Amino acid sequence: MVVGEHRATKLVINLAALQSNIKNEKKLLPASTRLFAVVKANAYGHGLVQVANAAVAGGADGLCVAILDEALELRHAGIKVPVLVLGITEPENAMLAQKDDISLTVGSTEWLLQYCQLLQNQLVTGKLKVHLALDTGMGRIGFRVRDEFDHALRLVQKRPFSFEGIFTHFATADEVSFDYFTQQMDTWHQLTDHMESLPEFIHVSNSATSLWHLPVTGNMIRFGIAMYGLNPSGRIIDPPFELQPVLSLVTKIDFVKQVQKGSSISYGATYQAKDDEWIGTIPLGYADGYPRRMQGFHVLVDGEFCEIVGRVCMDQMMIKLPHKMAAGTEVTLIGQQKGQQISCEDVAEYAHTINYEIMTSLATRLKREYVY
Ligand SMILES: *Cc1c(COP(=O)(O)O)cnc(C)c1O
Repeated sequence: MVVGEHRATKLVINLAALQSNIKNEKKLLPASTRLFAVVKANAYGHGLVQVANAAVAGGADGLCVAILDEALELRHAGIKVPVLVLGITEPENAMLAQKDDISLTVGSTEWLLQYCQLLQNQLVTGKLKVHLALDTGMGRIGFRVRDEFDHALRLVQKRPFSFEGIFTHFATADEVSFDYFTQQMDTWHQLTDHMESLPEFIHVSNSATSLWHLPVTGNMIRFGIAMYGLNPSGRIIDPPFELQPVLSLVTKIDFVKQVQKGSSISYGATYQAKDDEWIGTIPLGYADGYPRRMQGFHVLVDGEFCEIVGRVCMDQMMIKLPHKMAAGTEVTLIGQQKGQQISCEDVAEYAHTINYEIMTSLATRLKREYVY
């Protein structure tokens, strides 16, 4: 894994903004509700360990990841707070979680029985912390039927398990209509209302649920996209407080030329200069996670919007400059410059995707610089 330490292209990650998003969310929550920062997928592209440390310092009570390796990485970095793996871990690998005090998600009795089976020939003393996932309508993982869930409840009360949580995930918490959300909530109640003793963590909220469905049951939230300052709904619903974007993508022009009217730019010769034009080249491309389909969109140079001309290449792209500019002039692709802004949402819309995908596609080749 090579990181471009010696080129101008970089992500600037503002950890003060991240912490302020956590603080503002915590102001909305009852004091007893815990906030787990979701740092899966390299903290949505922002850098796993740096973000995890900043989130904990900023008031997060625990961390959520998608896969076991992300959790192990956090432990290897010396992070001690509770860590929950949200995806399914193979029973064969669950011992690794147990050794490092990592909590796992379980969605079937079969999984619990398999783990018990595997332990029979092993000398394991500690207990495995588990959260039971309930599929109330997301259709991804978890218990859907009361009988099987009840069976699982009986299994996790005993060794080798430590029953730590129950949770569900909403499919439409970021939408204007509450209908499907309410149906999922009803299913949640049908599955859980009869429980005699509750585990420590009851959680149903991703960012969207925590922003727009505050009163739902639970004593912990899984705070992801909004912590990075992005709106889970895109632009559809306004958040209750101003989200501060954490990440900027910047570079510098590294080559400048004037081309004659009619000259073509980049692969496929899809762009012809409409006039004698000043063209700048910048050192980033789709291999850095900036989508190839951004041709025709714009970047900021000296506070002015400049069109991306010709196809985005793997490692470079060309922009049309308003006039001659020096190599070394700063360029902003995501973020603010001289009072102008290009948001991650602007990029996502142009690329016909969502802000989550733009963030998580940002390549490991990009240097990440952390500021407060
Ligand atoms: C990714 C994920 C989250 C975080 O979602 P955001 O929309 O980013 O807040 C929460 N819960 C589960 C189960 C997830 O997979």
